[in-house]
Parts: sequence; structure tokens; C-alpha cells
Amino acid sequence: MRVTNLTERSMEFTSNAFLVEPGEGESGRSVLVDAGSDESAFDGVDDVDALVLTHTHPDHVGAVEYVVSRYGVEVWAPDESYSNADHRLRDGDSVEMAGEEFTVLETPGHKDEHVCLYCETEGVLFSGDLVFPGGSFGRTDLGEGDGEVLVESIRKVLEYTEGKPLRELHAGHQPSVEGDVRRHVEASLRNAEAMV
Ligand SMILES: [Zn+2]
Repeated sequence: MRVTNLTERSMEFTSNAFLVEPGEGESGRSVLVDAGSDESAFDGVDDVDALVLTHTHPDHVGAVEYVVSRYGVEVWAPDESYSNADHRLRDGDSVEMAGEEFTVLETPGHKDEHVCLYCETEGVLFSGDLVFPGGSFGRTDLGEGDGEVLVESIRKVLEYTEGKPLRELHAGHQPSVEGDVRRHVEASLRNAEAMV
């Protein structure tokens, strides 16, 4: 599996948009995790099979219509009400990306309808705006934000991944981290607990 942050060089305000592709000699779907809001991030990207959204804040979905019309993909989102969604993501669903199975974890607190995606075989976590590398966490001062709910969601991720590999953290903002990334999530939990 290869994960590329397409918005790494963006000069516009956007979330990260990750392309999850099969590695050399592997097979599976090329899936975009969040669309971001910078259409130029897709220059040179020819192959996208599906779009999965962690949540539908504007910086994560600004380029959705562009992505849908360019690649003809269907959209999976945690909210029923989001007009560009073809499928609803629910807690415990599994989503195939790059031939690997990712589990959907409903993780509200930053926004009511928000999911993380975790692949046990690869130890990869897409955390959306729940937690960021370095111990920070998603804003709770927006419309549906709730600090206590956010803390519960971070605990849920740590409990779900307890005793399982956690080697890569790809969040909605900031560069990704690799290695022992559990400590990043644990730091986010401590810092979020201190806030509420
Ligand atoms: Zn957000």
C-alpha cells in the first residue's frame, strides 16, 4: 500500500487529501481519503476508484464535485444529509482501499458525523480531524464540537487499536508520521483531557 498526500504543496487552505494505492505488484482500489479543497492537487493523478470522507467540513469536501466529475467515482461519507454522498459510512463497516481492509470507527466530537479509518494488517490510521500528530486534536468550538465527546472518541480509537499495530498516522491536517504513532494519539488524549 502506498499513501500519498496530494495537498502537500498546496498554497490554498485545504485539508490533506490522501491517495491510497496498491503498491508495486499489489492489486486493489485506488481510494482518496478526503478531497480537500484544492483542485490543482489532482494534477497528474489519473486513477481514482472511490472517495471516502472522514467528515464534511468545507476544507475536506471543497473539491468533491471536481473529483466526482473528473474520475466518475462514488462517494462514501459519514453523514446521511450530505448531498454528494452515495453511501453512508457506519461504525464497524469495512472499506477496501489498496486491497486492504479498513474498519470505520465513528468518532464524533469535532463534528457529530466524523469517522476514522483503521487498517490492522498495515497498522495505518486515518484520523481526520480527531487527532493530529504531535498531540494536538480537532477544534471543538465549531458548530457540532464537544470536548467531552472528542475525548471519548480518542479513547475509543486507542481501545480499538490496543494490542494491534499502529505504525502510520495520516490526519486531516499536518504532515503524516510513522513509527510508534500510538504515542501521538496518547498525547492527543492527554491534551484533550486537560481541556475539558
Ligand atoms: Zn473539520
